[in-house]
Amino acid sequence: MEIVKHLWQFFQERFKDTGREKGAFSAPGRVNLIGEHTDYNDGFVLPMAIEKEITMVGQLRDDQLLKVYSLDYDSELKFSLDNLTFDQENIWVNYLKGVADELEKMGYHLTGANLAFTGNVPQGSGLSSSAALEVVTAFTLANLNNLEIEPVEMALLCQRAENNFVGVNCGIMDQYISRLGRKDHALMIDCRTKEYELIPFKNKDFRVVICNSKVERGLVDSEYNQRREECNQAAKFFAERLDRRVEALRDVTIEELEEFGTELPDTVYRRARHVITENNRVLTSIAALKNNDFATFGRLMIESHKSLRDDYEVSCRELDLLVDLALNQEGVLGARMTGAGFGGCTVNLVRKNNVDHFMDAISSGYEQETGIRPEIYVSSPADGAKMLNKE
Ligand code: ADP
Ligand code: MG
Repeated sequence: MEIVKHLWQFFQERFKDTGREKGAFSAPGRVNLIGEHTDYNDGFVLPMAIEKEITMVGQLRDDQLLKVYSLDYDSELKFSLDNLTFDQENIWVNYLKGVADELEKMGYHLTGANLAFTGNVPQGSGLSSSAALEVVTAFTLANLNNLEIEPVEMALLCQRAENNFVGVNCGIMDQYISRLGRKDHALMIDCRTKEYELIPFKNKDFRVVICNSKVERGLVDSEYNQRREECNQAAKFFAERLDRRVEALRDVTIEELEEFGTELPDTVYRRARHVITENNRVLTSIAALKNNDFATFGRLMIESHKSLRDDYEVSCRELDLLVDLALNQEGVLGARMTGAGFGGCTVNLVRKNNVDHFMDAISSGYEQETGIRPEIYVSSPADGAKMLNKE
């Protein structure tokens, strides 16, 4: 709660008390445990919320202005709810504007507010600081305005904010987990039906450890579009080849791939093999976690990485190095790249007693090979968006 006190201090220095409704709220970042590049193939993903979040305090105003202060950028901006336009210079504010815009489009009439926020979700590292910012904004505005918005509705409106206002073509995973996450649980999301299930993820002997490679490649966008194209090509092929409805690779089994897929170009075949086996790995992971079988889950993480590296080809030298270093340590059950790839983070399942040694060994091993000091975070599955206090 220290952070909330800190935020209110800044808030009071900048904004005068309107005497109206006020409160403090937070929303977390996330790490995807397994199910990578399956979302746009109508498949399954399994993220968890992490113990890193964006915290926002706010109070309603008497007019239609939103005045927002970002502590981390030390920047205050104001705009009218009646005129929401894209800000080329201050990208961060577009996440807030986008959310306000989607709320208005849904027919909610928002009152202006003063807002201040800060976060410790690493930005641009694939832990979804953007979804955390959207969700905390929606949660804050909804609460201050006394709007009752179902959790799924809120996640979807935040996704639309990122799609429509910010202009990033993201799926539903990040906003879902930031809104719906629960302590000691991962969240299985079916990206076709948009249904979800909380999966128990609690074992006092293990920790989730996230290693940030600190590399980011410009490649991501073009490679991403190419993978999507290859997946569409494979799905189209099976739609014509199989005697039933195939809308996405989600609908193709591994047996069908093996029987007919040899007619596909080798690259497309391998892309399809990743997606199909990865979907299976998510489902097997869920069964394993329900049995508290972390050993099986760890093996599936390792297989997932190999498939992303060799079949889907979205890993890179630094991510492979982090995984190789991890698998050479004692007490490591699983390790894989997480997120879109070509940089960002790996996620590891490490025995609690080995975590300190793991962190030292990865840090020095990675720095020795690359000259980069990685950032390493240990996290248990955290709660999704929440109210910290309200007056
Ligand atoms: P990711 O979601 O993987 O972290 P994105 O590029 O999608 O990366 O989103 C990062 C952007 O979100 C930042 O460039 C910034 O505009 C905004 N953002 C995230 N966290 C904060 C924060 N604490 N304060 C202000 N803006 C933030
Ligand atoms: Mg993002």
